[in-house]
Amino acid sequence: MPIRILPDEVASQIAAGEVVERPASVVKELIENALDAGARQIRIRVQGAGQGLIEVTDDGHGIPADELPLAVMRHATSKLSGAEDLFAIRTLGFRGEALASIASVSRLTLTSRPAAAEVGARLQVDGGRVGAVEPVGAPVGTQVRVEDLFYNVPARRKFLKQPATERRQIDGLVTRYALAYPQVRWQLEMEGRTVLHTSGNGKRREVLAALYGPDIARQMLEVLAGEADLRLSGFISPTSLTRSNRQGITFFVNGRPVQDAALVRALLQAYHTLLMVGRYPLAVLFLEMPPEAVDVNVHPAKAEVRFRDRDRVFRAVQRGVRRALLAYTPVPDLDDRPSPAWQPASPGWGDPANEAAAPAAPPTESDAPPPPPSQPPLPGKVPLLRLLGQAGGTYLVAEGPDGLYLIDQHAAHERVLFERLMAQAAADIPSQRLLEPVSVTLSAADAALLEPQLEVLTRFGFEVEPFGPHTYRIRAVPTLLSHLPPADALRVLLEDFEEDETPLQQEMEARIIARVCKRAAVKAGQVLSPAEQEQLLRDLEACQSPRTCPHGRPTMIHLSVDLLERQFGRKGAR
Ligand code: ADP
Ligand code: MG
Repeated sequence: MPIRILPDEVASQIAAGEVVERPASVVKELIENALDAGARQIRIRVQGAGQGLIEVTDDGHGIPADELPLAVMRHATSKLSGAEDLFAIRTLGFRGEALASIASVSRLTLTSRPAAAEVGARLQVDGGRVGAVEPVGAPVGTQVRVEDLFYNVPARRKFLKQPATERRQIDGLVTRYALAYPQVRWQLEMEGRTVLHTSGNGKRREVLAALYGPDIARQMLEVLAGEADLRLSGFISPTSLTRSNRQGITFFVNGRPVQDAALVRALLQAYHTLLMVGRYPLAVLFLEMPPEAVDVNVHPAKAEVRFRDRDRVFRAVQRGVRRALLAYTPVPDLDDRPSPAWQPASPGWGDPANEAAAPAAPPTESDAPPPPPSQPPLPGKVPLLRLLGQAGGTYLVAEGPDGLYLIDQHAAHERVLFERLMAQAAADIPSQRLLEPVSVTLSAADAALLEPQLEVLTRFGFEVEPFGPHTYRIRAVPTLLSHLPPADALRVLLEDFEEDETPLQQEMEARIIARVCKRAAVKAGQVLSPAEQEQLLRDLEACQSPRTCPHGRPTMIHLSVDLLERQFGRKGAR
């Protein structure tokens, strides 16, 4: 076949495939347009799981009648004028292809009226064929109706999931935007039922309740960290609240939801050893940075971004989340009522001014105002404890300023050993010489990654020397990785370099944990001398994360003074 230029319609459909993958992608683009138009109210109606109808109505600045045909043309946008603007994008849209793409795979009706216009105007596009602009009566703002999505692209229809799944995608998407833009009044109606309705009063915790339900929303911990030009805010779940997958994790960068494996990894690292293996936290985190610090033009659906200083962003997330966690990680309380420190303060929920005064979310920043003295924040560290004795050869019983503590001696000892071994391992990694050196030939990319690190490798117990183009000879490997073929061991390290983690950290921790559990820690049922009990208690107090064992199980249970008083019927007697 000779080379030919594709007909416009075909080219549009191909391009549409990148932007409009499923009904939720249409909702996303239309919502972003409404937000870019400065809408204070956004109403979304969905029928037939989005295949029948998606209608988004806003009260934004509208589109002048004579510009309607342009709005549905590819590469037509009001948000970008020159290439230089690409590096400082402040709007959610900029590619000028969403409406054109959607219109090429559906029947689209665009109705709009700017505030200055007497009447509105309407334009219909049917599978890419643009009709004529007609005047209509319409309120100020814009309404986009998308009917019969993918009616002319049967292949795309086949890839759609069950209606329930598509609906869940839409629901999740809208709710997340509602959380990112709490000052907008959102209404989502699906198959005739209102599934989300927010007040637009700017309070994120209220929207959080719509996303996770009131119980979970109440437990979520607030994160507030970062410097002036890199701010992290949002909510994370306490270690007691987890999921078996990562679906509950969302990141927004400058108001835009992004998928970024490195951000998720930073979050998970912050939870490291605080969660059981295979469990994941819930998180909705917002990163704000100057637009020049992030390139948003790397993905047609704008779902991926590139950070100018990736390490800095990564560290900010990890530190911010870790700090919030350590500040909040409570000792499990036998008290069945929600802890007062987590109860929502009724009126001023989520509003920063109120948040500082209300105990709903104790501030995580050290410079934030302290909570009222009547309700002290949950201590991060364990308080100094006075040993009372050992029970059942299994638990230490201790007294603190705020009640009794039962400490699982095995879990506690695991934590102590774990932190000690980690500290040692970081200083000195044992190495194992191979009987026969092994040569390994890497890809050009991997070799480029490895070459500057050859020196560093010795510090991690490797002995590796260049041995021809992209080829290296391995003479020794770290003992921690000696169970792997030497070439694979080298790749483990390469991956670590690639992901910018402290090399071998993950493997080291995993192996150490395994070892600690198997052998070293004192067992339940093992009688300890008073001196040993005392030592264990002091060692635990000195730990960085004394409240959980390395597997995420609690090391202690707290019987608060309040609980004891209520149990003994002393409370309220006076
Ligand atoms: P982009 O958002 O990348 O500019 P779109 O194809 O999504 O591209 O939209 C094209 C143009 O149509 C926008 O630049 C904007 O001027 C206009 N537009 C689209 N939706 C709206 C809306 N809801 N309110 C006001 N203007 C809109
Ligand atoms: Mg757009």
